[in-house]
Amino acid sequence: MIDPDKPAVGGARLKVLLHICCAPCSSATLERLQEHFDVDFYFYNPNIEPYAEFEKRAGEAERFVRAFRPDGGVRVIVADYDHEAFEAIARGRKDIPEKGERCWLCYALRMRQAALYAKAHGYDAFTTSLSISPHKSSAKINEIGMALEAELGIPFLWSDFKKKDGYHRSIQLSKLYGLYRQDWCGCIYSRRERERQKRARAAALPGPDPKAAP
Ligand code: SF4
Repeated sequence: MIDPDKPAVGGARLKVLLHICCAPCSSATLERLQEHFDVDFYFYNPNIEPYAEFEKRAGEAERFVRAFRPDGGVRVIVADYDHEAFEAIARGRKDIPEKGERCWLCYALRMRQAALYAKAHGYDAFTTSLSISPHKSSAKINEIGMALEAELGIPFLWSDFKKKDGYHRSIQLSKLYGLYRQDWCGCIYSRRERERQKRARAAALPGPDPKAAP
């Protein structure tokens, strides 16, 4: 396990593959990591639906990197849209609320692919921007990361990016760079849930006063 806020032993800048879920979450994570690490982005998110949304989020990540690091120091690797892999883990779990078992399997699916890519392509470590979201369990993400480190032999960089005001900073950077910020996590189930919440909020609003003058 590697500390995200300290240089490596000996001061070398380690090469880290950062799994990213979207441009806003990647922005503050990159800003924090680049002080001590050389970072590349790995966009592997077969959970996102529809495909147009996948393309939109990947494109925004690329646009952000071009603006934030015009020196070309950060590569964005967009992996295939392997939606069947997500469907396989979501099968029979569509009604489980966010932060439950479906999400843990979803984190693990994406982090495993990042770890495999990092190992195959000579990175020193891997991590994920997922933990910046207040809707995601950092403890679970770190548990998965440590298990992947032990299984695959690629070091995991400790992921606690919502700390140090990380989420708030991602909102600031999103405004600064005009980034698209979706209001649902990614899968069709999270989208339906967000729409249901919006309808419930709208229904709770007071209606027009019948006594009000026309
Ligand atoms: S809510 Fe998000 S983390 Fe959970 S399964 Fe859907 S896309 Fe994955």
